[in-house]
Amino acid sequence: MMEVINVYWFKRDFRLYDNKAFNEALNADAPVLLIYIIEPSLIADAHYSERHWRFVKESIDDLNVELTTYNTSIQVFYGEVIDVFQKISKIYTITKVFSTQEIGIDITYKRDIEFSSYCLENSIIWHEFQNGGVVRGLRNRDSWRRLWYQYMEEAIVEPVFTHIEFVNAEFTEDIVMGFPTYWKFDNSHTMQVGGRTSGLLWMESFFNERLAFYSDYISKPEMARYGCSRLSPYIAWGCLSVREIYQRCIAEKKSSTSKKQLNAFMSRLRWQAHFIQKFEMEPRIEFEAFNKGYLDLAQPMNSEFLEAWKTGTTGYPLVDASIRAVTQTGYLNFRMRSMCVSFLVHHLFQHFSTGSKWLARQFLDFEPGIHYAQFQMQSGFTATNTIRIYNPTKNALDYDPEAIFIKKFVPELRDLPVDFAIQPWKMTSMEEMLYNFELGKSYPHRIVDISETRKEALKKLYGKRKDPLTKTEKERILKMHTLKKRFP
Ligand SMILES: Cc1cc2nc3c(=O)[nH]c(=O)nc-3n(C[C@H](O)[C@H](O)[C@H](O)COP(=O)(O)OP(=O)(O)OC[C@H]3O[C@@H](n4cnc5c(N)ncnc54)[C@H](O)[C@@H]3O)c2cc1C
Repeated sequence: MMEVINVYWFKRDFRLYDNKAFNEALNADAPVLLIYIIEPSLIADAHYSERHWRFVKESIDDLNVELTTYNTSIQVFYGEVIDVFQKISKIYTITKVFSTQEIGIDITYKRDIEFSSYCLENSIIWHEFQNGGVVRGLRNRDSWRRLWYQYMEEAIVEPVFTHIEFVNAEFTEDIVMGFPTYWKFDNSHTMQVGGRTSGLLWMESFFNERLAFYSDYISKPEMARYGCSRLSPYIAWGCLSVREIYQRCIAEKKSSTSKKQLNAFMSRLRWQAHFIQKFEMEPRIEFEAFNKGYLDLAQPMNSEFLEAWKTGTTGYPLVDASIRAVTQTGYLNFRMRSMCVSFLVHHLFQHFSTGSKWLARQFLDFEPGIHYAQFQMQSGFTATNTIRIYNPTKNALDYDPEAIFIKKFVPELRDLPVDFAIQPWKMTSMEEMLYNFELGKSYPHRIVDISETRKEALKKLYGKRKDPLTKTEKERILKMHTLKKRFP
């Protein structure tokens, strides 16, 4: 007779604290095997890159330190999910699997459907638990606002280890830790470090030191790196729960002198689930326009434009600095993310799908629901909001007036006076000589004229709004995705 066990499958929920699924597994009727699966198909997916898997590895290592108290650790398997479960089933009888719902890209959505069938066929009960404020199975947002508050105000789930027995099997090398390259990372990176311990440090420093600057710095590309919470990767990978952050905000509010900042921050916490909920209810937006009226919008692919955008060589310093910053550091503040996407979809008039996967690979905090819902909004593909086309030069003058961020990430412009670092095309040939700089050689010419591209994009995008399909779709989107009562 094989031993009967339950499995806890860590997905994007790398924490023991306030993790309902984990706590239910602890209190179920059989010993628990803790697992994470490195899936070759996901590793190969274009949304993901080494920085994500390193963050995952760091998060698991961190959890394993916490788990030593309970004499167990997470077994890391390499393989496709069903193959891994089949292998475990050769040694144990699995009766239940516990995990947190994943609101993921198409490939993980399909994997979960297949896994669900596998469980049914093999008499395994798969218990999935709600992921933060995102509610599965909703058809509209009538009750969503109430449900969000209800969830955030419920008591934190403290893990109770009293009765639990963990399964500490030695699996053979061919099925565990079999991932040779990505799994052995260079630890000398300068990006945010994965794991709850690190997430808690960022949270403490935000509430204790940085919150006071939040609203003043949020739009400034250099200062936002300090003044924003920087909690996004820890939220996206589940090292911190939004509920614990929300409840911390409520506690802080009682004594804080930064109430305005706290309110601004808390509204972002609500947007987190609000955007993911859109994706949960309409996952097709990974591939195509939210509003079907835009499905036939012609956006011919221009590989030269795309290359310039991805390499930060568009000739617009703030766009180039932003792209290079996110490539090097994995982080960019909201306004600069919007501006880079606006540059791609409006000024270069490229379909969002030409940049969405590439940017996902750069964002350490890649969260499919926020990412795709934001790409749609920035593209103007909902037809429910005013189309916002960002002017990178105006944004540089307003938010990086000393060109500190530009000079940090675009070294070619470092020795120029601030005005020319922001608008190098304004230099006369005499000035170019003076600064030993040659536009077109030292730094590229602008690849498009944004005053022209802006007009063109507005004409095409607003033109589509007159189509009957766009109008019907707009009504459908408003009905399905708009809150009955707005958040305060
Ligand atoms: C095109 C585009 C793609 C984006 N992709 C992602 C993504 O993959 N993952 C991601 O976490 N955020 C994404 N964002 C939203 C936002 O830019 C980041 O959440 C934010 O910059 C992260 O920094 P922070 O944690 O310091 O944010 P803070 O301002 O401190 O906000 C706290 C938290 O609130 C949430 N939040 C903040 N802004 C937004 C927003 N506009 N929409 C939804 N939730 C928000 C995040 O969870 C964030 O960690 C994207 C924005 C755009 C325009």
